[in-house]
Amino acid sequence: MSHTVKIKDVHRETHDVRSFITEKPSGYSFIPGQGTQVAINKDGWEDEQRPFTFCSLNDDDYLEFVIKIYSDHDGVTNQLGKVESGDELILDDPWGAIQYKGPGVFLAGGAGVTPFIAIFRDLHQKGKLMGNKLIFSNKTEEDIILYDEFEQMLGDDFTNTLTREEKPTYEHGRIDKEMLQKYVDDFDRHFYLCGPMQFVLDLKTHLENLGAETDEIVFEN
Ligand SMILES: Cc1cc2nc3c(=O)[nH]c(=O)nc-3n(C[C@H](O)[C@H](O)[C@H](O)COP(=O)(O)OP(=O)(O)OC[C@H]3O[C@@H](n4cnc5c(N)ncnc54)[C@H](O)[C@@H]3O)c2cc1C
Repeated sequence: MSHTVKIKDVHRETHDVRSFITEKPSGYSFIPGQGTQVAINKDGWEDEQRPFTFCSLNDDDYLEFVIKIYSDHDGVTNQLGKVESGDELILDDPWGAIQYKGPGVFLAGGAGVTPFIAIFRDLHQKGKLMGNKLIFSNKTEEDIILYDEFEQMLGDDFTNTLTREEKPTYEHGRIDKEMLQKYVDDFDRHFYLCGPMQFVLDLKTHLENLGAETDEIVFEN
């Protein structure tokens, strides 16, 4: 079933990531980590659906999406980069992406962190975030989404690595077997992966070699 909702607010999270606050259809309910298909209610774009994840909590009376804008081609995200408050989105019903199954290690590449935002906010609100870790890989410091909020929620359990920049206080390079062994002391726990195809495939291989099982979503880009 499709739902047309008004955009209430758009704000900048990073140079290419925007957060969109929209109305929430009545009775709409989802599990943290889930997402839906989104189209823009604008001539020629109504049927161009793309999957995005809810970053708000189920109890909130609004929906929030945190979306990376690809302005190098005229796709849906490029158009989303131009929408304003008062414009409309067309949403489908929520559907499963990744769900929390218990404490573990969350590994995100870029915008692949979005399913983990609602999961962490939900656990934090319930006082149950302890025992979870986020290892977040980005190209540069300016690509990190919601740095302050993750740091405030996770403290020392928040690790950042930069693949195209060397900076003090950050790890440098892709998450590999050595980095995993440095930050993870027990591989018999949940591992949640989300990012571009190659990120997910590489990490799945490293983790399987270390004896871990994974839950993953691929964000093609
Ligand atoms: C379950 C799931 C949840 C997701 N949740 C989120 C989220 O919460 N936040 C988020 O930011 N992302 C999320 N994503 C990723 C998001 O769906 C994609 O970034 C988005 O679909 C890109 O849409 P687009 O139309 O801008 O580009 P595309 O769909 O990549 O491109 C549209 C068309 O343009 C073509 N094209 C691609 N690249 C180029 C290029 N460089 N030049 C010319 N043409 C090109 C493609 O072939 C395609 O036909 C999620 C993905 C999945 C699978």
